[in-house]
Amino acid sequence: MDTTKITTTQLRQINRSKVYEYIYEKRAVSKQEVVQALQMSLPTVTQNLNDLEAAGLIERTGFLASTGGRKPQMFSCCADARIALGLELRNDLFRIAAIDLYGAMFKEETHPMEFQNTPEYLQTVSRSVDAFAASLGYPDDSILGIGIAASGLVSEDGQYLTYSKLLGCSEVRLDDLAQHLNYPAMLIHDAMAAAFAELWFRSDISDAVYLSLNRNLGGAVILNGTIYQGTSLISGTFEHMCLVPHGRSCYCGKKGCVEAYCSANSLMERANGIAGLPRTAEKDALALFFEKLRSHDPDFVAIWRDYLSDLSLAISNIRHVLDSDFIISGLLHTYLQEEDYEELTRLVAQRCVFPARPPRILPGKCPKQAAAIGAALHYIREFLQTI
Ligand SMILES: [Zn+2]
Repeated sequence: MDTTKITTTQLRQINRSKVYEYIYEKRAVSKQEVVQALQMSLPTVTQNLNDLEAAGLIERTGFLASTGGRKPQMFSCCADARIALGLELRNDLFRIAAIDLYGAMFKEETHPMEFQNTPEYLQTVSRSVDAFAASLGYPDDSILGIGIAASGLVSEDGQYLTYSKLLGCSEVRLDDLAQHLNYPAMLIHDAMAAAFAELWFRSDISDAVYLSLNRNLGGAVILNGTIYQGTSLISGTFEHMCLVPHGRSCYCGKKGCVEAYCSANSLMERANGIAGLPRTAEKDALALFFEKLRSHDPDFVAIWRDYLSDLSLAISNIRHVLDSDFIISGLLHTYLQEEDYEELTRLVAQRCVFPARPPRILPGKCPKQAAAIGAALHYIREFLQTI
């Protein structure tokens, strides 16, 4: 950049951003620390701290312990100076979450309700969002927007869902949803939103394959720290890769998809009938499945071995295209133990014909409501870039 062309206003803006970013990253800092770290003059730092404080973006948070003399004043970002909402639309429920500027979720509500692409459904959702937002007690203008994560592919312009077999409709328009909402809104593919949340909460990933082992499987490709969507935006839709030609039926209408072998639903399909696990109470059934597995019930151990074998085949296939880290997330991830990761890693390594190092298969770090959080995070990222 040619610095001679930077105006005074631009320079002030750059300094303000730098000071804010530094405080945001360090969480609590003294004025002197900012001066030293950013190599700015004391008056410049003082001015920026005053401006940021007046804008309600930072606050004074006590004093640093000192061995002598005056204790330095500490400054921190106001984590809830702005907040964002996330709305996850699934075929059997919708979920609303509120997050602060650090991405921390401080309220969440789940509403069991079958998805319908009708005005009545959208009105119900919007009324719930309004009530949820009102219960937070924040002024409307501190809510940056609402990211809507849906089980379907989103068009390039982000205006509608182009494909959603899970929601049982071919087109859900953002306008139809947004007209009932009082905030800026955007649509995002749920798996992509969840992967975005994962990226937000970890700094150790550059390239990775993200696998969300939810009731229905989802995925995303992470390249250079961002999500790679591909030319037709279908990158990472591993769920419909063929794992077993002419195999089990998938909800997409094809047979043998990864979804039919590696999703949480597929695991429960295998277990169903063996020990009379309740089909409908999915959560209880899963908990019971893992209880039986961990107590070494041979039927459940056999099912789990088959499942891990199929999952290792899916991972191995993906790995031959993208030899990177793998992140396991979603509903099943909450039940996985270290021994499962070790076994999965061993199986994937065993399938490789090359003398390659075993892959790194890592547990996800984002909480369960990753899709709603990830959708909301887009507004947080956008806001932080404007400070
Ligand atoms: Zn399929």
